[in-house]
Amino acid sequence: KKLGIALVGLGSYSTYQLAPALLDTEHCYLAGIVTGTPEKEGVWASKYGIPKENIYNYQNFDSIKNNPAIDVVYVVLPNSMHADFCIRAAKAGKHVICEKPMAVSVTECDAIIKACKDAGVKLGMGYRLHSEPYTQEIKKYVREKTFGNVHYITADAGYRSRSNPEQWRLNKALSGGGALMNMGVYAIQSVIYGTGENPVSVSAQEYSTQPDYFKDTDETITAQFEFESGTVGNIMTSHNIRANRLFASCDQGWYELDPASTYIPLAGRTSRGDLNFPQESQQKLQMDDFAKHILLGEPNVAPGEMGRRDMIIVEAIYKSIALGGQKIQLNIPVGYGL
Ligand code: NAD
Repeated sequence: KKLGIALVGLGSYSTYQLAPALLDTEHCYLAGIVTGTPEKEGVWASKYGIPKENIYNYQNFDSIKNNPAIDVVYVVLPNSMHADFCIRAAKAGKHVICEKPMAVSVTECDAIIKACKDAGVKLGMGYRLHSEPYTQEIKKYVREKTFGNVHYITADAGYRSRSNPEQWRLNKALSGGGALMNMGVYAIQSVIYGTGENPVSVSAQEYSTQPDYFKDTDETITAQFEFESGTVGNIMTSHNIRANRLFASCDQGWYELDPASTYIPLAGRTSRGDLNFPQESQQKLQMDDFAKHILLGEPNVAPGEMGRRDMIIVEAIYKSIALGGQKIQLNIPVGYGL
């Protein structure tokens, strides 16, 4: 059996990444759509062969409950809408994939996790990197201590936003925050899977060089992490600096991905040579992994707890900035969300 996925929100990520990937997935397919834009209905229906009864809008979305063709609802809306639609999907008895960042607060993450638990449905994050081979390789180095202990890890995730000051990503009510909410979660993820540990504290700084464009949301943030093992970590995330990298210095060498969190192609090197893995659609691998979790009981590679863990760190970073860079203890249980 192939699971039927319904995409909620047919913006650029659904249009250019997820829907094309769903043509190649082995364990799931694009069965339905949920859109607030009536003109998209016909276009998507003919392009992907979606029957009328599998097309919903934001108002009649809850009636998806009665549609056995839809097994999974994938929420690909602006961040502040994730919690509402994930919870409604769970209440409709559908498994849920939630795009990153999971929500705009830990409280909302708690509500999503609870709704999925109460409904007995599975919850996965749209963290595509956990299904692609370069990231798997880094996780393997950590597990097997291939390069010994990690002493220092640094990760950057940023791009230059220039096109449209009106976009939702720069509107705090819709995004929950700027670069940190958008790209920062990748940098946070990198320092965690690059060390295999959750950080125990964070101190952070914010930089603003173009306040006229970044009126409402953070432009550039740096943050430093301490880990129980003694590893030191650092991230930079920005809507005004182009950078995408993970680098770890260990007692027996180093490893690096650059780029580390973009779509394919990714690239990487270690102190022992270049990495060279197949460049398959990350979104295809990710959605098939989630379908295999449901159908075959394979591990959930990016569970809701992982999205919540990252939101704990995001909130602590904003808190540190508000307190002038003060060190914030994180109190994340050992192993939580890993
Ligand atoms: P987008 O702006 O291209 O699309 C957003 C969609 O939401 C549009 O279809 C729009 O019509 C709809 N929408 C509904 N209400 C809206 C409102 N009030 N304001 C604006 N749009 C509204 O955004 P996107 O790039 O597709 O991002 C959607 C989600 O996917 C975000 O949470 C983003 O972080 C995530 N995303 C993840 C990745 C990834 O690699 N995992 C990549 C891109 C985006």
